[in-house]
Amino acid sequence: MMKTCITSDYIYAYGFEEGLRIMKSHGYDALDYGWFCHTENKIFHVSESEFAATLKRERAIIEDSGLFVNQTHGAWRWPAQDFSAYDRAERYAAMETGIRGTALLGAPNFVIHCIMPFGENNPAHKEELWQMNLDHFTPLCDLAGELGVTVCFENLPFTSLPLSRWNETLEFVKLMNHPAMKMCLDTGHAAVYGDSPAAAVRAIGKEYLAALHVHDNNGVSDLHWRPGEGVIDWADFTKALHEIGFEGCVSLETSVKHEGDPALWDAKERELFAKVKAMADGTYGK
Ligand SMILES: [Zn+2]
Repeated sequence: MMKTCITSDYIYAYGFEEGLRIMKSHGYDALDYGWFCHTENKIFHVSESEFAATLKRERAIIEDSGLFVNQTHGAWRWPAQDFSAYDRAERYAAMETGIRGTALLGAPNFVIHCIMPFGENNPAHKEELWQMNLDHFTPLCDLAGELGVTVCFENLPFTSLPLSRWNETLEFVKLMNHPAMKMCLDTGHAAVYGDSPAAAVRAIGKEYLAALHVHDNNGVSDLHWRPGEGVIDWADFTKALHEIGFEGCVSLETSVKHEGDPALWDAKERELFAKVKAMADGTYGK
């Protein structure tokens, strides 16, 4: 049975323990832990012992709330900042930290973007770009494999970048041919190309699809709208997940905007959860 997951927005809105409590009460199974995404976060600037102690403490609180961490997101920068060997070494170290942290949280999946040494809008240097990513990710996947973590390579919305569209991401993962690397399908990023996320699910298949970022948009820009607000056919996406027998979490990368009257947040949050739950149960659009 598929489970439901969402980014750390409940925690951002309500605080760590209260956010988890409300998230669980709305029905979620799992958390997409967000603090390995930006190297400015405090977790990147503490001693090794404090790093481990913090994550163990957070894991205990998450598990006491009846939830688990299904996925985390590795460090990246936008606009891209992978131009020099120094930049890439910094990014490598941050990804390594994220993988170690992901293992400490007991999470199976570490989602990451490719490195973009020629920028995110540069259509040139495809061969070099792919080779640099192979070189960058091979040792990281070795580490992830040792720690029981899967590196989930994500498709991106950068339409000029020749390692962004979901079919290129899949091809790269197959070329890597590493047991610790699979794919994260981002539905909104696929839709920016006019691609059907359902078709992507069917092509990627159970063997390579480990994680999801679920959100909607207008088919042009990466807007992280809630399912049903944009152009994506969610009933077909739901059907595709069940056809391939996806066993992971249907994980939202969108949320309720926590602004205006807090009394209205609860109903909106429950409405969003009902959508992701219908995807997990296979009842969306029925
Ligand atoms: Zn994403």
